[in-house]
Formats: sequence, C-alpha cells, structure tokens
Amino acid sequence: RLPIIAIDGPAGAGKSTVARQVAAKLGLVYLDTGSMYRAVTWLVLQQGIAIDDECAIAELASSCEIQLTPSQDLQSPVQVWINGTNVTQVIRTVEVTSKVSAIAAQTAVRKALVKQQQSWGKRGGLVAEGRDIGTHVFPDAEVKIFLTASVTERARRRQEDFKKQNLPEVNLEQLERDIAERDWKDSTRKVSPLQKAADAIEIQTDGLSASEVTAKIVDYCQE
Ligand code: C5P
Repeated sequence: RLPIIAIDGPAGAGKSTVARQVAAKLGLVYLDTGSMYRAVTWLVLQQGIAIDDECAIAELASSCEIQLTPSQDLQSPVQVWINGTNVTQVIRTVEVTSKVSAIAAQTAVRKALVKQQQSWGKRGGLVAEGRDIGTHVFPDAEVKIFLTASVTERARRRQEDFKKQNLPEVNLEQLERDIAERDWKDSTRKVSPLQKAADAIEIQTDGLSASEVTAKIVDYCQE
C-alpha cells in the first residue's frame, strides 16, 4: 500500500500548510481531520442542538455525510461539505472554533469520524493531519510527525490566516488566550487526547517557514 504520513500537533503549529505541501510534493492525498470536527460543530450549532446534548450529537455525527474535495492549487482551501452544504468558510469562524473542542471530546463523535478517516486511508496514500492521527487513527503510519510552536508564534500565524481569508480581524492577545484554552481542552480530554506518538518525530517550528518544515518532512519520508 501507499504510505500514510501522520502530522499531529496543537492548533496553529502550521499543520495545514505543511501537510498540504507535503502531500503535493509526494503525490499523496491531503486529509484535514480538524475540518471534519469543525463541520460537525457547525451543523450542531446550525440545528440549535445544545453542546452537551451528547445523544442528539451522536445521532447527528453518525448520520451526517462529510465530503472533502481537493482544490486545484495549494493556495485555495480544500472544500468541505456536510450534508450537501459547502461549509469551507463558516467552519473557520470564532464561534465554531470556540465550540469545536467540546464536540470533539465526545466519544460518539470521535468514533464516527475516525471510522470515516480510516476507511479513506484503507489503501494508504494520505497525508493526514490532526491531533490523534499517529496515536489512534493510523497507529501504523509509515511516518509520524509532531509539530509544535510557541503560543505567541501560533497566535501570529492564526492572525495571518484570518487576514488571508478576509475574516474579521482578531486581536493577538485574544488569539493567544483562545489557542492556550484549546490546547488545554484538546490535551486533557478523556478520549484520544492530543499527544505525541512515542515513535513520532517532533519538529519545533518557531522561526521556520512552512517550506522549510515541509522540506524536513519530505527528507524523513525519503530516508
Ligand atoms: O486542526 P483544527 O484546529 O482545525 O482542529 C479543530 C479542532 O478539532 C481541534 O481543536 C480539536 O478539538 C479537534 N480535532 C480533534 N482531532 C483531530 C483533529 C481535530 O479532536 N484529529
């Protein structure tokens, strides 16, 4: 089978840009698992379901249909669809971002989405990014990378992402607080918390450009 490259790490460590570049360089499919948790969160909010209504959310997560359609070039985002609605933009709002960790912590949600991710990875050939890819989704991945960066650096990158996507500006201190809070929630939850796999290579990305990180990963993959 074709290889699977797992890229995990906290919010804003540069996973998305790097994972897409690595996928393009190696001719593999890019899978952004965070966008799936975001899409479910958007649907929960859109349907007016309470965040703690685990039964209703479980039902929704196991019955919804998520599609990710690759973009033509590296600049435009992968298009994310849930039940036929294109949610590529709306899943990046502050509202979805602030609620996604609570939804992603629910066992039934993880079960449904991990099942989908594993079925997409059956034949390999993926660069999958998330929080639990190397530890849980694809524990046999050929290459496992764990990306980190300081909170300040990650907040700065998020601010740039917002600008690029023409989303309303958010202040840096607020972004730092949000990121630190999401880190805490993602790494202290009971099911598949954010964790570096024992056999993952850790790359500290402060001061490195995305292309430099990509080059390092491509080197590891070709070793
Ligand atoms: O990667 P991104 O920041 O878009 O992920 C959004 C949220 O989805 C994370 O903060 C985390 O709560 C959740 N997530 C997860 N497991 C993954 C990917 C994302 O729990 N594999």
